Amino acid sequence: MAWYCSGSTNAELVENLFNEGLIKDERVKEAMMKVDRAHYAPSRPYSDSPQPIGHGATISAPHMHGHACEYLINYLRPGSRVLDIGSGSGYLTHVLANLATDSTSPDTNGGHIVGVEHIPELVDLANRNMSKSEQGRKFLESGRVKFVAADGRLGWKEGGPYDVIHVGAAAEELHPVLVEQLRCPGRMFIPVESGNGGGVLGSLGVGGGQYIWVVDKKEDGSIHKEKVFQVSYVPLTDAPKK
Ligand code: SAH
Repeated sequence: MAWYCSGSTNAELVENLFNEGLIKDERVKEAMMKVDRAHYAPSRPYSDSPQPIGHGATISAPHMHGHACEYLINYLRPGSRVLDIGSGSGYLTHVLANLATDSTSPDTNGGHIVGVEHIPELVDLANRNMSKSEQGRKFLESGRVKFVAADGRLGWKEGGPYDVIHVGAAAEELHPVLVEQLRCPGRMFIPVESGNGGGVLGSLGVGGGQYIWVVDKKEDGSIHKEKVFQVSYVPLTDAPKK
């Protein structure tokens, strides 16, 4: 946990994350500087902790957003295609859109970013949040960023294949359908539950917890998976019943 990175402004928060080494890449820093968290986490925007956004969902802590971008940065270039599953507030979708767009020539050199969220009210919220800044409005109006209401466990085939897939809620498995939607080369960042059902240790409830997995699809189509660190995310679930 890195609550001591909290700041009194967006710039201070991002600077603190950078000084503590939680963000290392200048491009990630710049992309986070350009998105005011107050548009996405109104109650305590510059606190380095998750915040409630309604409908039982939270915006993840800034250091988790930073970590995700750090792991994905080498796959994020102007023109990249990006899928953000469990897009919630829309904050990370906006940062990823910055990383997939050349800010000096956004019209000709911009990527396409799809945020998938299964609670329709949160899709509306993400659209409203992104509309609070001029840059966010441009992303939406140009169609470079769009939010869709769907079950993220199925990905979003029509926007792919993706250079980057970010999953913002814990999956039960490394859903093969998501790996299929990665480009060659492409990278997925996904929290996965472990220990529930898998093997003897799992059945004893030993070795559980959630871990971030980084899944790379290489140029030749081969897959490389790596378990990188332990986390605590809300689960990827069925949509709540009305
Ligand atoms: N990355 C976002 C939200 C993280 S919370 C942010 O930082 O703001 C995880 C989000 O995943 C919640 O908004 C939740 O509604 C969504 N979610 C959970 N299961 C889902 C599913 N099967 N498909 C799509 N979204 C899902």
